[in-house]
Amino acid sequence: MKKVKVIKIDVDKCNGCRACEMICSAFHAEPKYSSTNPERSRIRVLFDPLKDNYVPVLAGEYTEAECNGRDIYTINGKEYDECSFCRASCPSRKLFKDPDSDLPLKCDMCEEEPPLPEPLCVQWCLSDALTYEEREEEGEEEEKPGELGIGLEVLVKKYGAKTVKDTLDRVSKG
Ligand code: SF4
Ligand code: SF4
Repeated sequence: MKKVKVIKIDVDKCNGCRACEMICSAFHAEPKYSSTNPERSRIRVLFDPLKDNYVPVLAGEYTEAECNGRDIYTINGKEYDECSFCRASCPSRKLFKDPDSDLPLKCDMCEEEPPLPEPLCVQWCLSDALTYEEREEEGEEEEKPGELGIGLEVLVKKYGAKTVKDTLDRVSKG
């Protein structure tokens, strides 16, 4: 059995306070909780002033390929931007990329030892727009590359394995 972790998003309850962005970026700061910067958050609250809607979106998988075909959602008569609900860190936009390194960001459900009772964005959302669920499903736990693995892959593609390795050796010797 594998454990599936889900954050449910109720757009109607989101008031745009952005506490989720703050705590997520603080949790992932180096050192932890040393700074906040929404651009480093793995959850972003998108706001469309014309349509008066806040839409929290969690960072998903990194993809190298831009979509050639896109979707436009209309919900309750409001039309959403074609990338609004997309979780990908992709070449089309700045969203879900570290502002300094440009490396992809991905929600890791606040992995921590010992595990947190609930992801931090859920704990900090006082409007209950974010709620957390765990369930068991048939199948084996998959080993997916974490943010570090994805970041290294991007660097290797950009600069080549040798340059990345030489740089790591140099930096680690300090
Ligand atoms: S903390 Fe909750 S209410 Fe505030 S912006 Fe995030 S999702 Fe919306
Ligand atoms: S679950 Fe954790 S890592 Fe994911 S968006 Fe929420 S605070 Fe950030």
